[in-house]
Amino acid sequence: MSVNHKVTNINVWLMETKVKGNFADSTRNVETIGFVVVDVETDQGLHGIGVTYHEVGGEAIREFIKLAIVPKLAGRNPMETEALYEENFHYMRGVGRKGLAFCAYSAVDIALWDLKGKILGLPLYRLLGGNNNKVPIYASGGWTSYTTEELVSEAKDMVSRGYDKIKVKVGVDGGRNLNEDLRRIQAVRDAVGPDISIMLDANNVWQAGTAVQFANRVKECDIMLFEEPVFADDIPGLARFKQGTDIPLATGEHEYTRYGFRDLVLAGAADILQADVTRCGGYTELLKILGISQAWNLGFAPHGMEHMHMHIAAAAPNALFLERLLMFEEVVDSVYLNAPQPKNGFLEIPDKPGLGLELNMDNIRENAL
Ligand SMILES: [Mg+2]
Repeated sequence: MSVNHKVTNINVWLMETKVKGNFADSTRNVETIGFVVVDVETDQGLHGIGVTYHEVGGEAIREFIKLAIVPKLAGRNPMETEALYEENFHYMRGVGRKGLAFCAYSAVDIALWDLKGKILGLPLYRLLGGNNNKVPIYASGGWTSYTTEELVSEAKDMVSRGYDKIKVKVGVDGGRNLNEDLRRIQAVRDAVGPDISIMLDANNVWQAGTAVQFANRVKECDIMLFEEPVFADDIPGLARFKQGTDIPLATGEHEYTRYGFRDLVLAGAADILQADVTRCGGYTELLKILGISQAWNLGFAPHGMEHMHMHIAAAAPNALFLERLLMFEEVVDSVYLNAPQPKNGFLEIPDKPGLGLELNMDNIRENAL
């Protein structure tokens, strides 16, 4: 097969479900979970797939891909990811260096990387230079809308499913009840015992002073990392937090492009970068963000979307682990056919070219919006 493929066709589907149940964190209610799914086809019959995640704006992402990006890719060689990224970045820069337009381009770029692996006959982690196909993964949930009993029960369930690292939310009552947060996390620690790593996610809720105060109280529960203690754009506040506590600071799920991560790092505002390939600019941009994390000797722990991130987490020497959001399990199963499932705290990457994933096209055709 020649490496000179041309893009002939791009399909886009919106898959969404209304969230059943009670999922709120310190700053928002999760009402909808949605994936926009892209399939890029070449003149030699290969298909590359990419996905981006949203809670709101799925229709806009779908239409942006169809109307703005598809015409720019028609007839182009999918191997030219840098050239295509550069052209599209400047084409859409007035509306798209962050936000929905960038989520849209990220999904398309991921599909191009899937194609690159398929054209070269290599799993993406091998194309990226890795040699290990088993990646540690942690379970993520523990919403602030849960009662303490529900929180403890979910934490125990995570451990019984083989996870030795778990993440739960803090910031109950909109962040105004630190004593209750402390009691809840102590209850989780008591329930799971000393050998399970616990991470906390405050989802942007506090000002830096309060976040530092809480971190210094909760550290007796042996916390592995603290995520988004203050608003994601409050870079000085993140830096203040990092100076004020010895719990490692993780952030980056709301950041876009190398430029956003450069500013976080230059300000001393993170210990662990949590970029999301489905938002930050696809693999083309994620590799640059990874380079920034390595130049500053920081940890790299991508946000959610474990099937989109498994290859980079396998290949990057400073990658810590993947995140599995338990709330996503149903939509993940509805979008992919036989996607790998975590076992004993590890995700094993399929030995197939590209991402190694297959879309559940029967379900997508039937249920896409
Ligand atoms: Mg988070």
